[in-house]
Amino acid sequence: MAVPSTCEVFVFGAGPAGATLARLLARAGHSVVLLDGARPRTIAPRETLLATAQPALERSGLWPWVEAHTEVDTLRHGAIWGSDAWRWRSDAAPGRSYLRAAFDAGLRRAAAAAGATVLAGARLVQGAVQSDGRAELHLQPLEGGLEVCHARYVAVATGRGTRSLRAAPFAVRERHHGPHTVALTLQGGCAAAAPCAVVEAVPQGWWWWHGDGAAGGAATLFCDGDELQQVGTAALLHSARTAARGPAHTLEATTVGAAGDATARARSAEAVLLVGDAAASIDPLASQGTEKALLAAEHAARVLRAALAQPDDFAELRRLHEQWEHGLYRAHVRSAAQFLDQERRFPDAPFWARRRLPAVPPPAPSTRWRQPSGVVEAAVLTRLGDTFTRTLGLRRLDGETLVAVGYVPAVPVWRLFAAGATLNEAVASGGGDARLFVLQPAAVHAAAAVLAEQGWLTPADTHAGARH
Ligand SMILES: Cc1cc2nc3c(=O)[nH]c(=O)nc-3n(C[C@H](O)[C@H](O)[C@H](O)COP(=O)(O)OP(=O)(O)OC[C@H]3O[C@@H](n4cnc5c(N)ncnc54)[C@H](O)[C@@H]3O)c2cc1C
Repeated sequence: MAVPSTCEVFVFGAGPAGATLARLLARAGHSVVLLDGARPRTIAPRETLLATAQPALERSGLWPWVEAHTEVDTLRHGAIWGSDAWRWRSDAAPGRSYLRAAFDAGLRRAAAAAGATVLAGARLVQGAVQSDGRAELHLQPLEGGLEVCHARYVAVATGRGTRSLRAAPFAVRERHHGPHTVALTLQGGCAAAAPCAVVEAVPQGWWWWHGDGAAGGAATLFCDGDELQQVGTAALLHSARTAARGPAHTLEATTVGAAGDATARARSAEAVLLVGDAAASIDPLASQGTEKALLAAEHAARVLRAALAQPDDFAELRRLHEQWEHGLYRAHVRSAAQFLDQERRFPDAPFWARRRLPAVPPPAPSTRWRQPSGVVEAAVLTRLGDTFTRTLGLRRLDGETLVAVGYVPAVPVWRLFAAGATLNEAVASGGGDARLFVLQPAAVHAAAAVLAEQGWLTPADTHAGARH
């Protein structure tokens, strides 16, 4: 297919994030090019969406498509975690199950049907992106030659493989990463466990078994990347299978599928929008990466539509999207660490020792907090339904903003610390502001604690500036 010479948005990467973004923008009447890297994913062929994903996907309008292209997850879910016993989950509502290759192909077809130009296999040869987001992209289509496309904005949704775009002009930087984690998938027969999905901790990491409902399934080992390098794939898989009590142990006639990076990473870029795993890839333990990718696409589509209407706001809107991605990333880092911490049987094994939570004592109630020098009150952009509007919030030097903690407005809480105060003193004085007077003191206290934890406040007896 010919490369259009201009477009409003050029999307790199046609996984759940990129293909959904292209579909939403095209459906809203924008000209979009979606570049499909044409590299099929081979690790973990089947995925699940948790039942808890449904409300957010419904709110974002994506649920009807997801429901139509996935099936009810009928597998029985269990865990061998924290003890040698099997525990079957009986409480959770069933989620959705899908084969990733077919799911992605369906998303690409939907993007094309909505009017996006889908380019399969073209390669970015060179390009330039200006600070206002305008880009000139030189592409080599599969059939050869060189084509130039001028895009008003670029979105990068190339997943964990974003490294492949390092040489591209997108200035992608890694901001944070978790312990180096690699996923190794085995496929084979195991009739007894075909109707189950099981997570199992072993000294070498943890197994994620996904039955195919018929005669076998796939078992993915999430292991420590450094240990894997020292021990070697065959030896590590052998010891992890020997240690297992669940399906990974009894799996027959296995074939080793591809290995893939599964490290949690957060990245940022200057003038392009990073979306989905390209912006922040979370620990697969959460089983929420695809849900996040879909919701990120919906958020990114809103951001880009607002930027097309108000180009002067592009830098702030781009930053707002990054903050959305990185906020989820931080929450996932915490919850994955807490879940891993429940497994205490293998304290000396490298995988577990490298993931142990550091013992950080919480700040004492007598700690006094003050406003750091790098934080100011400002009229900041915030999402209001389908659009973005300016409202009073906090802004750091690096552009990160905060309007509210849940339903508690951030500025009135932050002002309670103008002269320095403990959390309890601040909450006691909060009734002077009508916006806090109407709230439960416990909610104001919780919001103040979040401000302190996230660096919007600093201990009063230090001279530390704002975080970052
Ligand atoms: C082993 C494993 C199991 C998982 N299981 C689950 C699960 O059960 N449930 C769940 O919700 N999440 C799961 N996840 C997470 C989930 O797969 C990801 O979070 C999700 O795929 C992210 O979507 P994305 O569109 O951001 O990136 P990706 O799905 O990685 O898509 C990126 C796309 O960009 C393309 N691309 C890459 N480089 C280029 C380039 N240079 N040019 C053009 N295109 C390019 C790729 O070919 C790909 O199509 C799992 C992850 C792993 C590693």
